[in-house]
Amino acid sequence: MLELKTLRRRRVAAVGLAATFLLILGGALSGVRVMAASPTVVSLTFDDGRATQYVVRSILASYGMHATFYVNSPLLSSSNFYMTWQQLQGLYADGNEVGGHTAYHADLPQIDPTEAQRQICDDRVNLLNHGYQPSSFAYPYGDYSVAVESMVQNCGYNSARSTDSLGGAVAESMPPQNVYAVRAISGSSSLASMENAVTSAEQNGGGWLPVVFHDICNGCSSVSTTQADFSAFLTWLQQQSANGVTVQTVQQVIGGAVQPAVQGTGREPPMRTAAHTRSGFMSRATRTVITSCWCGRTSATARRR
Ligand SMILES: [Zn+2]
Repeated sequence: MLELKTLRRRRVAAVGLAATFLLILGGALSGVRVMAASPTVVSLTFDDGRATQYVVRSILASYGMHATFYVNSPLLSSSNFYMTWQQLQGLYADGNEVGGHTAYHADLPQIDPTEAQRQICDDRVNLLNHGYQPSSFAYPYGDYSVAVESMVQNCGYNSARSTDSLGGAVAESMPPQNVYAVRAISGSSSLASMENAVTSAEQNGGGWLPVVFHDICNGCSSVSTTQADFSAFLTWLQQQSANGVTVQTVQQVIGGAVQPAVQGTGREPPMRTAAHTRSGFMSRATRTVITSCWCGRTSATARRR
């Protein structure tokens, strides 16, 4: 009898322990759910395929992080201002994303709509022909319109990043309120302001923070970030992973399949409409030059001058 009672007590104790364990487990699981509902995701995005950006390849690799590079494909390897195709391939081989930024950095709402479509679509086709899987786009000068948003979508891109500020929000929403007008923060402001933006998102419900970088150098342009600050930002971001902060490419955040190639309409190749300059930010389209080589087309159809 005594033995039975002991057994019963042990059973009760065992049931009690199991219940306590389930409660703890349940609490832990619900904790995980709470974190997963409001993560903070940072995307490191680089515009224009500038040569100064290549220095981040080894830095990203050392942190096991991946970035998104929006390039003007026919300008790659065209001068020492731009990365070479080989450098871009190296970045891509490491797991970084390659997205489009028009053929020649066109100010899309300011030009003929047929030409605008060629600038977006044919650049994407060129990237596909080079073996890339472009699904993300960024607007040159951050300039877009409702019509341009539709062009980007129709050319097969799954998202478009603007340079619009968050407008009072702590982060872009996930999914974004407008996937063809993704808002972002500047990567050429101070290290502290980038960290503050991430902290603010972390503490206020999370969200997505695409960061826009142009040059990585010591003051080589008005839109530059020093290599030291970039490295320090990644070190800090890695520390923030304990708080649920992750670094993802734009494609990883947006998801979706890579769309088929869509060629621009009309017989003309995209035109060179603006030039990047080392000093300062790119000037808006002030001159129009027909490119000597549109590498996405055969020489038979490319107009040469
Ligand atoms: Zn640009």
